[in-house]
Amino acid sequence: MSNATPSARQWEHARRVIPRGASSGHRLGWTQVFVRSQGAYLWDQEGNRYLDFLNAWGPIVLGHSDARVNEAVLAAANTCDLTGVGPQLGEIELAEKVCELMPSAEKVVFCTSGTDATMHAAHIARAATGRVKVLKFHGSYHGWSDHVAVGGARADLTREAPLDTVNSAGLHPGVTGDVVVVEWNDAAGLRAAFERHGAELAAAFAEGYVHSFGCVAPEPGFLELLRELCTRHGVLFVLDEVKTGFRAALGGIQSVNGVVPDLTAFGKAIANGYSLAGLAGRDEFMGHLGAYTHGEATIDGTYNANPYAIAAANATLGIMEREDTISRLYALGERLRTGYANAIAETGVEAVVTGIGSEWAVYFRGEAPRNFRDTMDVDTDRYAAYQASLLAQGVLETTSATGDRRLNASTTEEDIDRAVEAARTAFAAAAA
Ligand code: PLP
Repeated sequence: MSNATPSARQWEHARRVIPRGASSGHRLGWTQVFVRSQGAYLWDQEGNRYLDFLNAWGPIVLGHSDARVNEAVLAAANTCDLTGVGPQLGEIELAEKVCELMPSAEKVVFCTSGTDATMHAAHIARAATGRVKVLKFHGSYHGWSDHVAVGGARADLTREAPLDTVNSAGLHPGVTGDVVVVEWNDAAGLRAAFERHGAELAAAFAEGYVHSFGCVAPEPGFLELLRELCTRHGVLFVLDEVKTGFRAALGGIQSVNGVVPDLTAFGKAIANGYSLAGLAGRDEFMGHLGAYTHGEATIDGTYNANPYAIAAANATLGIMEREDTISRLYALGERLRTGYANAIAETGVEAVVTGIGSEWAVYFRGEAPRNFRDTMDVDTDRYAAYQASLLAQGVLETTSATGDRRLNASTTEEDIDRAVEAARTAFAAAAA
């Protein structure tokens, strides 16, 4: 009989049939196999309980296994499942709600992942402008389509790596020629990029508040500058709200900072864990989604607007509106960031905590980073000590020293205070 733990045995099984043992790169680096989720907590196979500060990298916003959302999904499945014909009732209801909430949304389509949404955004932008190139920011992740999977978010990148390093082997090698990568918060670099490439750009992709390499706010005027340059050069401004949508605010970060894009990609928090994403925008641009027989951009997907995820989204947004979940997320997030910042000061470790609303990042460096290059000098050894200490105390944070993390609305003040105590011990472990 092997004396390996049940989790270790499952990882072994997994590695036999799944490359590296899990179907998504971010799921590697753990020894646990989680088998139960409820509210703010996950349980591993050994029965250990963890306060979850990953929340599936964004989607879980109300809480794990929310009974109200699950009931809505079951009701939809038992009433009218996927028909694949015309719009479905829940889809119309959700589209109306997104158009009401999101400043940039005059029309909206639903797909299944953020990758789909940003891919369709690029197609629309090319169809609308007749141009090919896109601009994006260094380190920002927008999914895996070739044209945006450049210049971003790879843990092995160094300060010396070119801005347009591709994110994966196997991407089309020609793609880098069509992507212009600019450092986040570099206003002069952004102006220069538009001067040089403005007439060739179909779209500029940006997060409204960067979560791809932690939590890095735009500096005052930066998004406004991007908006102005896009307008001046006839470039579509695509705001990637896959992380910020329905979490930083119900209307997305655009309703917080007032900078309205031409197209918005969203996903994650909208459906509390069910796979739904979408693309919203001005009618004039969304109108380019036509029939492929007429030379328009196409959206066509078997599971687009699937009624299960749509029902989850209608239930999630209804609850968030009724319960003012966003205010609760902000209050909990603020309590946590303040507690962490105090713990950092008390332990004397060189670290900073940044973030907005329910999300935060911990950087083991002296100052908050302004851009992706800044994050490359974080102290990864200290981060590993910090993260291991938290995990041993039952608090689950990302293994990435430049990662973002978040709480869900079912987290209690007591949970936060316990996490702050655990973080104090973890910062002390990192300082040693
Ligand atoms: N855009 C951003 C900002 C993201 O954080 C992600 C995923 O983490 C994506 C796009 C891709 O979304 P998905 O994983 O649903 O394809």
